[in-house]
Amino acid sequence: MADSVQERPEAGTGQTDAIENFDVVVIGAGVTGLYALYRLRELGLSVRVLDEASGVGGTWYWNRYPGCRFDSESYSYGYSFSEELLQEWDWKEHYSSQPETERYLNYVADKFDLRRDIQFNTRIASATYDENENFWRVETKDGHLINGQFLITAVGLLSAGYIPDFKGINSFKGAWCHTGRWPKEGMDLAGKRVGVIGTGATAVQLIPMIAPEVAHLTVFQRTANYCAPLRNGPIDDETQLEIKTSYPEIFRACNETAGSFMHEFDPRSAMDVSPEERLEQYERLWQKSGFAKWLSNFRDVMLPGEANEDYAEFVRNKIRERVHDPVVAEMLVPKDHTFGSKRVPCETEYYDAYNRDNVLLVDVRKAPIECITPSGVKTADAEYDLDIIIYATGYDAVTGALLAIDIYGEGGEKLKDKYVNGPRTYMGISSVGYPNLFTVNSASVGNFVRAAEPLIDWVSECISYVRNNGYTRIAPTAEAENAWVDHVNEDGENTLRTKAANWFVGANIPGKARALLTAPDTAPAMRAKRAEVAANGYEGFVLK
Ligand code: NAP
Repeated sequence: MADSVQERPEAGTGQTDAIENFDVVVIGAGVTGLYALYRLRELGLSVRVLDEASGVGGTWYWNRYPGCRFDSESYSYGYSFSEELLQEWDWKEHYSSQPETERYLNYVADKFDLRRDIQFNTRIASATYDENENFWRVETKDGHLINGQFLITAVGLLSAGYIPDFKGINSFKGAWCHTGRWPKEGMDLAGKRVGVIGTGATAVQLIPMIAPEVAHLTVFQRTANYCAPLRNGPIDDETQLEIKTSYPEIFRACNETAGSFMHEFDPRSAMDVSPEERLEQYERLWQKSGFAKWLSNFRDVMLPGEANEDYAEFVRNKIRERVHDPVVAEMLVPKDHTFGSKRVPCETEYYDAYNRDNVLLVDVRKAPIECITPSGVKTADAEYDLDIIIYATGYDAVTGALLAIDIYGEGGEKLKDKYVNGPRTYMGISSVGYPNLFTVNSASVGNFVRAAEPLIDWVSECISYVRNNGYTRIAPTAEAENAWVDHVNEDGENTLRTKAANWFVGANIPGKARALLTAPDTAPAMRAKRAEVAANGYEGFVLK
């Protein structure tokens, strides 16, 4: 419900258009935005959520490509705030597919009557802070204005799709799309010659799903990935009951781990046990589903060093075992980056797809893509005729969707200019010169819902604190922001995430500054930091 409504002439139309005022405007109706709406409403605040999509779900709305699913356990990914919801909702598979996850988020939206405060089909052009009146003026692409005292950008970590600027891209006569904008009505791939560019987590899910359907599939690979078997399966009735009685333990386990997943590292070093014991553990965990293979493994498997390389070689051999043609197998074996320095995709029959006669793997590191032609893809040494091109080429991660909005802070400074060398924030969520703006999309990696709930709880309590104590604005101090940026850069150096050309550091986007885009800290450390800040009267912030 709007706080108040003002009338203003609508530019160029001669008509009047209502400017609506809210306590909080949230951009994004994905998992974070939906929870923000629920939580802020509970606090008695007026909220408007805006989303470009025609429905809820964010990532789970847009990513409709065949094979899209969680690779963290479904029951660890759901919201925890409502016991009723937890007991009502039956996850059908251990690793939920996109359609089921989208259904879940729609169920949540309906159950908590969230839709009435969400405006769909609304693209945001800009957000401008009004220093005199202390509110954010959000302007939609079609020129409507929505004001909020606070602005939360729940725009997603991986939502701004990236398509390389290939020469001739628009000359292609066939159909093409980015996986993150897979058409709602689907793509007719049956009997077609299809090309997939990219072999990241998305392509690894997509390729085995479409390979049996298409006439011919050409996969353009620049970097081979370490992929591990997902081992998904349906959840039977008995397991369903077990899950429903175990939610407190599931969430407790998630809350104690670095990435908020259900798996805890073995505190031993891989190098402190005998080679036989080491291999026994590797093999045992390999048979498990999902992320257990590395997140329950020896603690140093996910740290740069000897154990990491030892495990990497184990995974390489697993890949070699799966692929019949030794030449193709070697093309699929990663040798140029350490295990875990890029996100490890979970696969179902991915490597088996390359044993099919209708699948061709092309090495575009050796012979890069030169251009897209009207009839397909031209690399440095061949031309591939295609009916359809699928770009599984990833995302301008974390800052891409945020900076696609022209965000103007105090003195008209553009956030894009402030972020020119990488994000400049305090705790990932707040920046000097941008009072009352919470950039929550940049604050977490790992299990997104587990990270989003406590983060939104913190932001909601912060907003309440500001309002209940007679303040109108909150922004970090320059010292706090500088110290945080230093911390991200310095401590980020000790994480695997900064050890490869990946989206975590913006290295997948030509021209993007290289900087760790998220906090280098574990999820428990981030929660503790935020709790301490709040307990100390929002230490590091200026309240006015
Ligand atoms: P990605 O991991 O960034 O992969 C993009 C792929 O496109 C890479 O193979 C990349 O090669 C290739 N590429 C980019 N530019 C290219 C060019 N000019 N020429 C040739 N190849 C090019 O993107 P993604 O697969 O969409 O995954 C992104 C993230 O989304 C994942 O890391 C994961 O966090 C998330 N995700 C999660 C799930 C899940 O939960 N199940 C599923 C899918 C995605 P290079 O490696 O050489 O750059």
